[in-house]
Amino acid sequence: MSSPSPWDINRERMVEEQLIPRGIHDPKTLQAMRTVPRHLFVDDAMAALAYGDHPLPISSGQTISQPYIVALMTQALQLKGGERVLEIGTGSGYQAAVLSRICERVFTIERIDALLVRARKIFDRLRYHNIVSRLDDGTIGWPDEAPFDGILVTAGGPKIPQPLVDQLADPGRMIIPVGDQYLQNLQLLEKNQGEITTKTIETVRFVNLIGVHGWTT
Ligand code: SAM
Repeated sequence: MSSPSPWDINRERMVEEQLIPRGIHDPKTLQAMRTVPRHLFVDDAMAALAYGDHPLPISSGQTISQPYIVALMTQALQLKGGERVLEIGTGSGYQAAVLSRICERVFTIERIDALLVRARKIFDRLRYHNIVSRLDDGTIGWPDEAPFDGILVTAGGPKIPQPLVDQLADPGRMIIPVGDQYLQNLQLLEKNQGEITTKTIETVRFVNLIGVHGWTT
């Protein structure tokens, strides 16, 4: 067996120092965070910072979330392995990549073409062939592929978009930041036998969810 690379060592440290002590315990989430090469999803100039305990800028004025937030949102979906999951806000592609190591198929939507093109190249390079993506307004969901066992929204909106609630399977879970343009509550919505419940699991700061059922800018 070859010895671990500095990237592997940094990634393991990220899991041991940032995730486990903060309560990330789901084995599938931890394994995915140990596996996906986060440094490939950021610009080369930022690669050395990729495993730090913070978000990082990506192009087009957007961000790749802090590792802990990616893990927290992934864990909240309580995935077992066979699910179809919708992600809104592909960005760098990292969150979709993490989900793809756990579930059967990831559907991810991005509204900025340049980001989607770059993310697709990395999915191809890593041979993450169970990720499908499209350029669109994710607040209207992906009706042709619904229902989804899980929905994960990585941009903050003023409310939970109704089309996403409608496209969530029963049972199903959605994780989404909801609030103003500065601070949001990370809400976990659960659908079970037709009943919808929501609870806040963390306060977060995400970029704007822009679309018909989001912000206008
Ligand atoms: N999941 C990303 C990652 O792993 O790098 C982080 C995404 S970044 C915090 C939020 C992304 O949501 C941005 O790329 C932004 O362009 C996108 N976004 C905002 N509103 C959107 C919408 N209505 N539909 C699709 N993507 C949207």
